[in-house]
Amino acid sequence: MTTFVLCAFAFLTAFIGASLGSFLNVVIWRVPEKASLMSPPSHCPKCGSPVRWHDNIPIVSWFLLRGKCRDCREPISFRYPLVESLVCFVALTFCASILFGGWTGTRFQCLSWEGFTNAFEAWKPILANEFSEASAESRLESQLTTFIFDDFIRLLFMTVGLSVYVTLLASVELMLGFVRFDQKQAPRSLLIASSVVVLLAIPMILWLNSSDPSCQIRRLWILVQSVVLGSVPAFVVKKGRRVEFMLLGATWGVVSGMILALPGSFLCLVIASVFRKKFGRDLLGVIFYVVIAFLLVAQFVFSLLF
Ligand SMILES: [Zn+2]
Repeated sequence: MTTFVLCAFAFLTAFIGASLGSFLNVVIWRVPEKASLMSPPSHCPKCGSPVRWHDNIPIVSWFLLRGKCRDCREPISFRYPLVESLVCFVALTFCASILFGGWTGTRFQCLSWEGFTNAFEAWKPILANEFSEASAESRLESQLTTFIFDDFIRLLFMTVGLSVYVTLLASVELMLGFVRFDQKQAPRSLLIASSVVVLLAIPMILWLNSSDPSCQIRRLWILVQSVVLGSVPAFVVKKGRRVEFMLLGATWGVVSGMILALPGSFLCLVIASVFRKKFGRDLLGVIFYVVIAFLLVAQFVFSLLF
C-alpha cells in the first residue's frame, strides 16, 4: 500500500514538474519577444500548425515524435524535453527529500513517511469526534491529537508548498539562463522579480537550518555579506548590463556561500565575456544559471536532510 501511494505521489510530482517545465519553454521563447503567453496556443514555429494535445505531453511526446514536427517533419529543438526533464528532476528530488528526509529538530518530526502515517492515524479520532468528552484525561489526549493534527496539516502544506516554491525558484533561474543562451534580453522587471524571490528565500533557508535565533542572526549576517560580495564584480561591466550582473552575482552569493561568492561571480563574468566574443553564444552564462538553480535546490534539500 505504502509503495503504491509513494509511486502515485512520485508520478504526480513528476507530472507537475514536467508540465511546469513545458510552460517554462513557452516563457523562454515568448517573454523576450514580449509576446503573450496564452495566445496563440502552442504551434510549430516552422509551419505554424497547432500542436495537438497528444503531441504536447511533456518529455514523452518529443521522443514519440522522434524530435520532428508531425506536419512538416522539421526538427524540434532538443531543448523542449531538456528543460522539461530538468524541472521534473528538481521537483522529484525535492519532494523525495521532504518525504524521506524527515525534519530534524522538534518542529517537523513527522516529516518522514512513518511520521506521515502516524499523524494520519492520529487524525482519524478527530473525525470520529471521539474527544468530545471533557474529562481531564481526554482533554490531554485531545491536545496531543491537535498537536499531531497541526503537524499533519503542516506536513501537507509544507510538502506541496515547498516543492512548488523551490521548483519555481529553480525554474526562474533556468529560464533566465536559456534566454541568455539565445542572446536575448530578459525584461528587467522579470530579472528584478526573480532576484527578489530568490533573496526572499533566505529567511526560509535560515529557518529550516536552525531554530536558534542567535544562530539565525549570525547566518543572516554571513548571507548579507555573501550577497554584497557576489554583486561587487558587476561594477566593472558596461552600464547596460550592470543590473543583470549585479542581480546574478547577488543570487550567486546566496547560493554559493561567503567564500565562493566573490571569486565565483568574478570568474563567471570574465569567462562569460571571453566566450561571448569567441563563440557568439553565452554558454558559460547558461551554465552559471543552471548551477545557481541546482545549488538553490541543494540548499533546501540539505536543510531538510541534515
Ligand atoms: Zn511544423
